[in-house]
Amino acid sequence: MIVNCKDLHDRVRRAVRFAHPDYQVPPANSKEICSDFTKIPKNGVYIMFENGETAHPCDLNERIVRIGISEQPDRLPRRLKSHYNGKSIFRKHIRTAIAERDGIAVDKVTMQQISDYIRKNITFAVIEVNAYEKRKELEKALITTVAQCPECNASDKWLGKYCAAPKIRNGKLWNVEYLNSKTPLTSELFQLICDGLVFWHEVDEDYIKFMND
Ligand SMILES: [Zn+2]
Repeated sequence: MIVNCKDLHDRVRRAVRFAHPDYQVPPANSKEICSDFTKIPKNGVYIMFENGETAHPCDLNERIVRIGISEQPDRLPRRLKSHYNGKSIFRKHIRTAIAERDGIAVDKVTMQQISDYIRKNITFAVIEVNAYEKRKELEKALITTVAQCPECNASDKWLGKYCAAPKIRNGKLWNVEYLNSKTPLTSELFQLICDGLVFWHEVDEDYIKFMND
C-alpha cells in the first residue's frame, strides 16, 4: 500500500512541534510548542511547517514545507540548529527569497533577518531513524509524496515564491532534490514514521494530563 500526502500530514501534525522560543504562534493556533532542542533525537528526519501555509484541511491544517535529515551520525540536533543560526542551504534559499521580496541585493540581507524569519515562522516535527539508509529512503519518499501531491500547493504569499532557485519558486517545498523521484511512501516506511515520531508524552508530562482531563 502507498500512503498519500493527506495521511502523512494528518500523522505528522499531531507529533511534538519544535520551534525556537521566538516562534510567533498564530492567534488561532492553540497547539503547544517545545523549544527544548535537547529532546530532539540524535538521528532522524525533520519535517518543517511554516506560518501562513495550509493544506489538506482538518482541525490542524498546516502544510509541510521542507523535509531533511542529518547526513552525519548523531548530528540531527546540530543540523537543525544550523538552520536557526549558522550555515545551511535552507538559510541560503530564505536569503535569496527575502532579497527578492524586499527588492534588495542578496548581500544586504543580514544573518539576523534570516534567523528571525526562521525563528518566528517555522516549526518542525522529528522522526527518529537510526539507520542512515533508512532515513535517506524516508527523506526521498517524503519529498516525493508532498512534491507530487495534486492537492496541496503554496499560498500566493509564500516566501518561497521569491526564491532564486526555480524548483522552489515554481514548487511548494524548500527542497530541490528528489522532487521527481519515484520513491513511494510504502506502508513499511510509514511504519518507520509512526514508530519514530516524537510525541508529546515523550517531552511533556503536563500535556498527557491535559489530554486525559
Ligand atoms: Zn498534499
